[in-house]
Amino acid sequence: EPILTVSGVSKTYRNGPTALGTVDLTVNRGEIFALLGPNGAGKTTLISIICGIVTASAGTVTVAGHDVTRDYKAARRAIGLVPQELATDQFESVLATVTFSRRLFGRSGHSAYIEQVLRDLSLWEKRHAKIKDLSGGMKRRVLIAKALAHEPQILFLDEPTAGVDVALRRDMWKLVHRLREQGATIILTTHYIEEAEEMADRVGVITGGKLLLVEEKNALMAKL
Ligand code: ADP
Ligand code: ADP
Repeated sequence: EPILTVSGVSKTYRNGPTALGTVDLTVNRGEIFALLGPNGAGKTTLISIICGIVTASAGTVTVAGHDVTRDYKAARRAIGLVPQELATDQFESVLATVTFSRRLFGRSGHSAYIEQVLRDLSLWEKRHAKIKDLSGGMKRRVLIAKALAHEPQILFLDEPTAGVDVALRRDMWKLVHRLREQGATIILTTHYIEEAEEMADRVGVITGGKLLLVEEKNALMAKL
């Protein structure tokens, strides 16, 4: 059953390049899907369109039954996004930041779920710390916790392991596999073929704004 359908999506930035040609893609519920491609391939543009942050020049995107262009708020409730950059509210505590993210999507604040997420990310002991006082690695953990706060059905990780320490990489993949066992869908971008092969069930190869092929991971190596 598809949770994500991308149909005929393209993007030309104002005063910019055609970042995406015409992309068609379907991802099924419970899949771990990797978008593999070099810098500038259009990976961030594609996930930004899917998440309703960037407007497509053409095409349609449906996430968990919601048309992103018509009702991006409903679509966003189904989506968690872990962006590349570290920007977050520096002066709040970890717990306040993550709880706020949860309430933003209309879920109650106090929750055993939040505690579990913070424990999984080794953030529970730091829950009262201000984000500005955390290390870069801990800040990245907060971004993941924020993205998971409202129990999204589909989680996007943009270059999740770029510049990340070994401990976080290990915790992240444990978390990804547990989320999938709970029925979540995970979509990640990467420019490492090893990471795509190791992590994903299926891999989409993107370059120059074109989705060249989508393969089960075992079939990928044979084609590249
Ligand atoms: P949109 O078409 O989605 O409104 P814009 O074309 O307005 O996007 O671009 C958003 C902003 O990003 C602009 O201020 C643009 O100058 C800036 N920008 C331009 N080139 C790049 C780039 N390569 N990477 C990131 N941002 C860029
Ligand atoms: P990737 O995530 O694969 O590195 P991006 O989606 O960030 O690729 O970028 C695809 C292309 O679009 C690149 O040529 C990039 O410079 C350009 N681009 C990305 N964001 C903007 C923007 N806001 N405005 C103009 N050009 C952009």
